[in-house]
Amino acid sequence: MVRRSIVWFRQDLRLADNEALVEAIKSSDEVIPVFVFDPRLFLGTTKFGFRKTGRYRASLILESVIDLRRNLRKKGNELLVRVGKPEVEIAKLADQLKTSWVFCNRERTQEEVDVQDRLERNLWSIGQEVRFSRGKMLYYTQDLPFPVTHTPDQFTSFRKEVENFTTIRKPLAVPAKIPATTEVVEAGEVPTMASFGYKLEEPDQRSVIEFRGGEIAALQRLEHYFWESKSISHYKETRNQMLGADFSSKLSPWLAQGCISPKTVYAALKKYEKSHGANESTYWLFFELLWRDFFRLMGKKHGNRIFQKGGIQQRKRPELIDDMELFEKWASGTTGAPLVDANMHELNKTGFMSNRGRQIVSSFLINDLQINWQIGAEYFESLLIDYDPCSNYGNWNYIAGVGSDPRKDRYFNIASQTKRYDPELEYINTWAPEYGGQSFESIQLKHEEAQA
Ligand SMILES: Cc1cc2nc3c(=O)[nH]c(=O)nc-3n(C[C@H](O)[C@H](O)[C@H](O)COP(=O)(O)OP(=O)(O)OC[C@H]3O[C@@H](n4cnc5c(N)ncnc54)[C@H](O)[C@@H]3O)c2cc1C
Repeated sequence: MVRRSIVWFRQDLRLADNEALVEAIKSSDEVIPVFVFDPRLFLGTTKFGFRKTGRYRASLILESVIDLRRNLRKKGNELLVRVGKPEVEIAKLADQLKTSWVFCNRERTQEEVDVQDRLERNLWSIGQEVRFSRGKMLYYTQDLPFPVTHTPDQFTSFRKEVENFTTIRKPLAVPAKIPATTEVVEAGEVPTMASFGYKLEEPDQRSVIEFRGGEIAALQRLEHYFWESKSISHYKETRNQMLGADFSSKLSPWLAQGCISPKTVYAALKKYEKSHGANESTYWLFFELLWRDFFRLMGKKHGNRIFQKGGIQQRKRPELIDDMELFEKWASGTTGAPLVDANMHELNKTGFMSNRGRQIVSSFLINDLQINWQIGAEYFESLLIDYDPCSNYGNWNYIAGVGSDPRKDRYFNIASQTKRYDPELEYINTWAPEYGGQSFESIQLKHEEAQA
């Protein structure tokens, strides 16, 4: 009997270092790759009414699926594309094609877990099952020196333990062959942006880089950042900047959709260090990737607490209110604080914002406007091109003083941030031209007034 498996691609839109794909090939004669566009994500809204997936991320996902299909076709296979609930669409295909298993990489946050649990139940009812793989993190949880439930809540303790005691595994190679099915099955069309009601707009010329979806674009970005520009060798000095293509790696959107795996980035980093030398900057990129693992583990350990107002600590913060009118000023970049407004314009126009910018605007929303941080986090969830549940909510928890940070509040003084990171007002003039032509002193006065 032919053993047939479905590989359900989710946030792992790649062929390299894809454990679910490799496992499926090992266990099956025929592999059927599937991606499902879930209308709950593309048409639905968040609790506070923002579109669940904003247009920049939607476009990146569409491009990534097209790229994945192209790469699978080069291997003689085909990506089936469906629109609907994955738990229904995949189960239908499993039934129709008489598969043995569905392979997928396991997700750990509630909405994603709900979908995979429902799929599992639907498959049980037809005598099939889901086989879960891993691939989100640098580390495998089974290699960690502690069980997930004992993950240190402070980043520094976590880092010291994993750095000293855990090896990062080598990425899995792109499979040489991905045996296709002989069954005739409709491939399905990749939906268009218009079909989900997104308006097509010209990309903003001020965007830090052109974020094109897909594994190939991710590898090109890596190639550029490491080997062509060698910007990685200066990362530690430039990473807090806000303007320009190469001040940081800009790998986050591809990491978030799994177009590239963190292990692949790490392997490239080690290769680069061998030929160009290791320094503080090359170490620091690894350090930042550790933050990504850390927040994922916090999500696993603390579950839904990361989404709740009291966060991981369950700390009461009644002073943070749902003032939607004031929130709207923040979201639209009309707070009167030029650096905050400039960053929000960049987010609204491109879906990207630097890490420094994210820290400044989130601190301003929480500490100065005294608004419930969950609204800001949901707004980021909607708009960020690199949205990832654990990284987003973990960072918001952290800034709101409800996460794992030993410091209660992370307060950012905007005037000093401007002096340090935008002394020539280049960033503000680029993204908030409404303040253009004003002197440094008058911009700083506005910052002081906004934080008075
Ligand atoms: C309020 C807030 C919300 C955020 N939301 C997200 C999010 O939804 N998705 C996301 O990927 N990052 C998020 N970040 C983290 C960080 O801002 C972005 O990862 C980074 O700006 C992406 O740019 P880069 O790829 O050039 O990063 P680099 O500086 O080049 O770092 C390399 C990689 O390390 C990881 N990384 C770096 N900093 C962090 C961090 N603080 N937390 C977790 N991972 C990190 C990312 O995967 C990043 O691509 C958030 C930060 C804040 C303060």
